[in-house]
Amino acid sequence: MQDVIVVGAGPAGNNAALLLASSGFSVTVIDSRVNIGDKLCTGLVGEECFRRYPIDPLMVHREVNSACVISPSSELVRFETPMPVAKVVDRVAYVASFAEKATANGAEYQLGNRVVRLEQSKDRIRVFTDGQNGTSQLESRALVLASGFGSQLNRQLGLGEPADYVVGIQATVRTEGIEEVEVHLGRDVAPGFFAWLVPTKPGYALAGLMVRKNAPEMFSRFMAARKSEGKVREEVEKPICWGIPLRPLKKTFTDRVLVVGDAAGQVKPTTGGGIFYSLLASEIAFGALKQSLDEDQLSANRLGAYQKEWKNLLSTELEVGYSARRVFEYLGDSHVSSLISQASSSGFAAELAASPEVSFDWHSSMIGKITRHPTLGGVLKLVNPLLSRMAKVPEPVEILASESSMSESGTPV
Ligand SMILES: Cc1cc2nc3c(=O)[nH]c(=O)nc-3n(C[C@H](O)[C@H](O)[C@H](O)COP(=O)(O)OP(=O)(O)OC[C@H]3O[C@@H](n4cnc5c(N)ncnc54)[C@H](O)[C@@H]3O)c2cc1C
Repeated sequence: MQDVIVVGAGPAGNNAALLLASSGFSVTVIDSRVNIGDKLCTGLVGEECFRRYPIDPLMVHREVNSACVISPSSELVRFETPMPVAKVVDRVAYVASFAEKATANGAEYQLGNRVVRLEQSKDRIRVFTDGQNGTSQLESRALVLASGFGSQLNRQLGLGEPADYVVGIQATVRTEGIEEVEVHLGRDVAPGFFAWLVPTKPGYALAGLMVRKNAPEMFSRFMAARKSEGKVREEVEKPICWGIPLRPLKKTFTDRVLVVGDAAGQVKPTTGGGIFYSLLASEIAFGALKQSLDEDQLSANRLGAYQKEWKNLLSTELEVGYSARRVFEYLGDSHVSSLISQASSSGFAAELAASPEVSFDWHSSMIGKITRHPTLGGVLKLVNPLLSRMAKVPEPVEILASESSMSESGTPV
């Protein structure tokens, strides 16, 4: 019997496996994919992540210190930071690098095997898999569930699933003259969310968008518009859709099991970025598991320390970010254009880009700064009465003002 089985070889699962294997525990990682890390993603990751989880420079496509935001009324505002705040990376290589280190420390990988059933018993977890060589069964003392968005396994364990999500769609495109990240806003582009062009290697970019519905149609429209501008020459692959959780699971632990990463909904609701938070959460999961394994105390009671700790670190960000996201979804094009125009003309956009309160990964301070701004905050307050009439929305602007008071019961869509 293994000490730990990890389901999912994404950033969350590989980092958990690496930390556990380096501490001497026997670990098996199971993933239904054959190519580790090859999951739909843009690979735009903040600098803080690489300070903590270093990357081989050969895996970096480019550094990012500017972005161009295009408003619904086609006004263009550039944000430029004094130093690079993020990198566009080869996500597959970066995620696989964690798996290589985990393997070097003794973790075993079973790829091309889908976990179909989990069974908890008093002294172990049974994991049933389905792969090319048929079905098989493994056992472990504990399990890290890092199976990403849409996993049925959460539900099997009675942990439910993230209460809100959005669909991301993306394809690699050949480009003409795109040297910086572009963010496109507007109801015709990506209602309530945004579309992006993120340059990778010279002459190529990842084009994508996040929406609640009609992703393929919205993507076709976005591509047609960029082609007619001459920015995009052609799509070099078919676009792929995948879900992005916007809210965390209420409970991310049970007897002998911790849920980590997208499976737990540990994602920035503002942008849908989840690599850094997945890595951080897996480190917290490792800390909680190590102690519990050492003491052979793997009850839900003991493992609950994991949820306390990751919530201490992330829950303000997830809650404030989700409130901001909901406010943004209810803004009309005229509000968004007006916010962007005023942010630019008042110098606030430049001030924001240079402000130490602005971080690629921690958005609550920046959101607070925007809501406290005399003009931009005023526009949001104008929208507030409309919001409060919508029974399902929990007064998001007031929540933003107090920044940390949103309860777990925020109403999902
Ligand atoms: C379009 C799009 C763009 C994105 N861009 C960014 C970005 O630029 N920056 C960023 O930080 N984040 C981005 N994200 C989010 C990011 O990809 C995820 O937050 C991150 O990959 C989560 O890591 P994870 O380890 O939790 O899950 P995943 O990376 O999803 O890994 C889960 C793994 O579990 C495996 N698995 C699932 N079910 C089973 C099963 N039953 N049996 C065995 N294996 C299973 C899967 O094959 C997968 O390999 C993007 C997401 C999308 C959809």
